[in-house]
Amino acid sequence: AKKRGKSCCQFFTTEINTAATEQLALKNLLRRALARKEFQLYYQPIINMESGAIVSVEALIRWVDPELGLISPNTFIPLAEENGLILPLGEWVLQTACTQAKIWNQSNPYPVRIAINLSARQLEQTDFSERVSEILKKTPFPTDHLELELTESMLINRMESSLKTLNTLKKMGCRLSLDDFGTGYSPLAYLKRFPIDTVKIDRSFVQGISIDPDDAAITTAVTTMAHSLKRAVIAKGVETREQLNFLNEIKVDEAQGYFISYPVPAEELTQKLREKSHL
Ligand code: C2E
Ligand code: CA
Ligand code: CA
Repeated sequence: AKKRGKSCCQFFTTEINTAATEQLALKNLLRRALARKEFQLYYQPIINMESGAIVSVEALIRWVDPELGLISPNTFIPLAEENGLILPLGEWVLQTACTQAKIWNQSNPYPVRIAINLSARQLEQTDFSERVSEILKKTPFPTDHLELELTESMLINRMESSLKTLNTLKKMGCRLSLDDFGTGYSPLAYLKRFPIDTVKIDRSFVQGISIDPDDAAITTAVTTMAHSLKRAVIAKGVETREQLNFLNEIKVDEAQGYFISYPVPAEELTQKLREKSHL
């Protein structure tokens, strides 16, 4: 038994070492990728439930490594957060997405908002609002068409300084949305405390709408509650007509998901913006 225990632990150590080496290798790759401009933004439309028109577009980062292929942001964003690369990367996202949205809005009679995912590290920079302001001046892009997506978990630490930054961004005219709504511990406290305009109901509830009465009830309750607090509601992860119909009945304002469109490269979104309705 002892012998088996030992070999078991040796195996375990080797596995950890491999993981650590892989992490280091990935971080170096990430640095190189930023220098080599291997990142791309994909864009996923968000439609208005009444008109079916695209009213907003979420920028979603992609990393295409020449050897490894497409790497998911769920893999590399946490690493970029650990080693600080998220700061230059996040600025690149803001700059690129605003530049693209400006181009769309020049040719599109109905301007779209551009929604950008922030990371805690970005928000924790004391000069974050000034940085956003600088980027918007360079582009130049109207602040009220910029929507910054936050999550409860990124607001947990440094509440006071985050609140100050978010209030400044709000005064500048930016819109703020609370992503993954319903999955955290105290969504109401965050709505009360932070100047949030919009909640994005998490995909996990939306996907259960037709199969789990609890999910349908939660989605309805969250929508009613957000509306009585004068917040707009976006449903995420809409994959079926049935889900869309339900969301329409309970008066969700906007919807996003594979049923409407996958995230697509900028040129494809340009095409989609020409179509009137996506319902
Ligand atoms: P998120 O903000 O929750 O974004 C939604 C994710 O769900 C995206 O995954 C999107 O492709 C996917 N999705 C959209 N519609 C559907 C649907 O109908 N069904 C299903 N199953 N999935 C759907 P993606 O693009 O892989 O991004 C994953 C996460 O990475 C994002 O989750 C966000 O937290 C993070 N992320 C992406 N881009 C950025 C960025 O530029 N900066 C930062 N800080 N984080 C980012
Ligand atoms: Ca998001
Ligand atoms: Ca998420």
